[in-house]
Amino acid sequence: MDRRPEQILDEAKDLLAEAKTEQDFETARIRYLGKNGEVTALLKSMGAVPAEERKEFGKAANAVKQEIGELISGGKAALAQSLRASKLMSERIDVTEPGAELPFGTLHPITQTIDEISRIFMGLGYSITEGPEVETVFNNFDALNAAPNHPSRDLTDTFYITEDTLLRTQTSPVQIRTLTSSEPPIKVISPGRCFRADTPDSTHSPMFHQVEGLLVDEGVTMADLKGTLDAFAKRMFGEDARTKFRPHFFPFTEPSAEMDMSCFVCGGKGCRVCKGSGWIEILGCGMVHPNVLKVGGLDTERYTGFAFGMGVERIAMLKHGIGDIRLFYENDIRFIEQFA
Ligand SMILES: [Zn+2]
Repeated sequence: MDRRPEQILDEAKDLLAEAKTEQDFETARIRYLGKNGEVTALLKSMGAVPAEERKEFGKAANAVKQEIGELISGGKAALAQSLRASKLMSERIDVTEPGAELPFGTLHPITQTIDEISRIFMGLGYSITEGPEVETVFNNFDALNAAPNHPSRDLTDTFYITEDTLLRTQTSPVQIRTLTSSEPPIKVISPGRCFRADTPDSTHSPMFHQVEGLLVDEGVTMADLKGTLDAFAKRMFGEDARTKFRPHFFPFTEPSAEMDMSCFVCGGKGCRVCKGSGWIEILGCGMVHPNVLKVGGLDTERYTGFAFGMGVERIAMLKHGIGDIRLFYENDIRFIEQFA
């Protein structure tokens, strides 16, 4: 017996103080408490101890066995605890940290233009109404006084769904829906999508947007029409805008006109945008045709009204100097982002 139990315990304590991994503890366990371990050997050597010392020796050896066992299991538990803590630290989330910034989209320039037009007319007391994009042929043409031989009714110009239904070619059928469902005074605008069988080029698209306007009341005159649309042009394009009305033809208004506005780029002197004329065509308008008022069951001796329709793309292109209508529909974020 060359080593005392206390000596083995001291050595084990030093060794375990250095233990850093699960493996270090396991190595120590085998070294002291394993089948051929030092403490095991100590206990096996009991027989060789003189009888009078045997009891003390056994007590001491068992105490060492127990203490080393506790040191190992305690050390392993502490190691596991600290591993858990450092794992928690590495996975810690700082809930006060500002989040990763998500890029916000912007409103499409068509939507922005519709919103701006809508705001101006709402400021003039108009309300907004919408109609379906799939319309009856009656609402889109007949009720709007378009004769059966009207060129826009042709199959090559219009997307028919059945003989009686089509993709509306204009927002004007909302006039019919409004006239047949409400009583004067009527004061509405109606923005929306329209469809025509056009081949796409820089100024044509088979899908486009219009804003329709309708006002019907007693004593409404062409002067009201001109005043309203002149006020619109000034709010949309600036107080310097001047307007003029040219006679035109639409089946559903009589008289009909197109409104031109002094060029907001050159102020009327003539430039590339106005093609040298100093004027830019903005919209079509006119006094509601009595035949249209009759579809709504109105007394045409008592009521008159005016209507107008404008192309949203055209206004957006003019305002922003956009040269090609197709840019609106290509979903190119570099284009859309310019209108944030
Ligand atoms: Zn000009």
